[in-house]
Amino acid sequence: MSFESLGLAPFLLRALSEQGYETPTAIQEQAIPLALAGRDLLAGAQTGTGKTAAFGLPLLQHLATNSQEVSSGGPRKPRALILTPTRELATQVHDSLRGYSKYLRIPSACIYGGVGMGNQLDILRRGVDLLVACPGRLIDHIERRSIDLSGIEVLVLDEADRMLDMGFLPSIKRILAKLPKQNRQTLLFSATFEESIKQLALEFMRNPEQIQVTPKNTVAELITHRVHPVDGGRKRDLLLHLLAQDSREQTLVFARTKHGSDKLAAFLDKSGIKTAAIHGNKSQGQRLRALADFKAGRVTVLVATDIAARGIDINELPKVINFDLPMVAEDYVHRIGRTGRNGATGEAISLVAQDEVKLLRQIVRLLGRDMDIRDVPGFELQVPIRWGNSAPGKADSDMGDRGVRKTSHARRPHGDAPRHAHAGPKKTGGGRREGGGGAGQARAAQGQGQRRGGGGRSQGSSRAV
Ligand code: AMP
Repeated sequence: MSFESLGLAPFLLRALSEQGYETPTAIQEQAIPLALAGRDLLAGAQTGTGKTAAFGLPLLQHLATNSQEVSSGGPRKPRALILTPTRELATQVHDSLRGYSKYLRIPSACIYGGVGMGNQLDILRRGVDLLVACPGRLIDHIERRSIDLSGIEVLVLDEADRMLDMGFLPSIKRILAKLPKQNRQTLLFSATFEESIKQLALEFMRNPEQIQVTPKNTVAELITHRVHPVDGGRKRDLLLHLLAQDSREQTLVFARTKHGSDKLAAFLDKSGIKTAAIHGNKSQGQRLRALADFKAGRVTVLVATDIAARGIDINELPKVINFDLPMVAEDYVHRIGRTGRNGATGEAISLVAQDEVKLLRQIVRLLGRDMDIRDVPGFELQVPIRWGNSAPGKADSDMGDRGVRKTSHARRPHGDAPRHAHAGPKKTGGGRREGGGGAGQARAAQGQGQRRGGGGRSQGSSRAV
């Protein structure tokens, strides 16, 4: 399948080819012809699937090939609106669309909070065709009457699930009330489809076509999921230990709170690992700088909260570490969406303390696939984890075969077996970087005391929940 065969115009094809896009991704193959035909779309696609181009290309083609209705004076009204949950995603989408529209003249604006109004007011006064906006700041502009949305022909709700999670539903409804009801195309993209999203779609879309690139709530197949049980108080040291194994590897680390992210970043930095933090209390400038430093390799670790990391576009990030598990299982899918993109392999590691066992179960249930649980030598639990009524072994039976971890080499994240290899049923230590040698062995007996489904395995063995 080629981009030409999807019905895209030459001015877009040229820009795509210059960006090195050769073949459309699955979501692009499905979404582009439907969107070009003017259909409303309910698309299940997470970050990393190429969703931005999937809605962006038909939208740009529409703007370029359909002339605007003649307006009665005043600045030109925006014709397309893309709503995104965060500033980072807004900037990223805006940048991507500018790249795709290199051979077009489509005035656009990117509207988000946390920065002065002045610039945005100037741009809006001059008039734009395309608006990429976060709901909060867009409402500010609506209230100031600095924006007129009555000419919107295409609306995109990008990462709709996250916008709802962030409490933007009332704002979205207020914005939708300002848009024309007739002749509007609506494209809704979401990684997950909760009832609230379906309601929104029913209310505001015209007989939407549903498309899905990955089965509901799943993550890329090429990602290995590993869990290291650890005492809460030793998480920082364990993280440092894991990161120190390859100080060159770019790693995104997720923490639950803003304060926690700052403390963790400071700790890692002090320990000699170049680290930046990104969260909602950072200014827009700081967030963009941290992201740029990370992308350029000036920092190797980026510590992020869920909301700040939303939609971060980093290609082929090999490793994501969950320092804390997310409070909402769906966020695991979003977090991990940053690795294993475009067919690359990836590794997702979660440090799990006793008080997170319930969250882990929810995640496993949502993913419907196995996780490899293993102690890290030297970091075995002082108090064995209580897995609750349903020990992971029991969860295996709940989930049938899905719970059983496969240890085939084909599923290894990298060809570099010694570094990333799963220990399988082997002993600890010897050759594995995680190996703690004698000390690790000595603690093995303790680890065996844990309740571990299959019973009495030695540390380092792989297992499933
Ligand atoms: P997205 O899911 O829109 O955030 O896209 C993820 C990454 O894939 C971005 O860096 C895009 O530039 C890239 N990308 C999207 N579509 C293609 C394609 N057809 N070929 C190559 N790269 C792509």
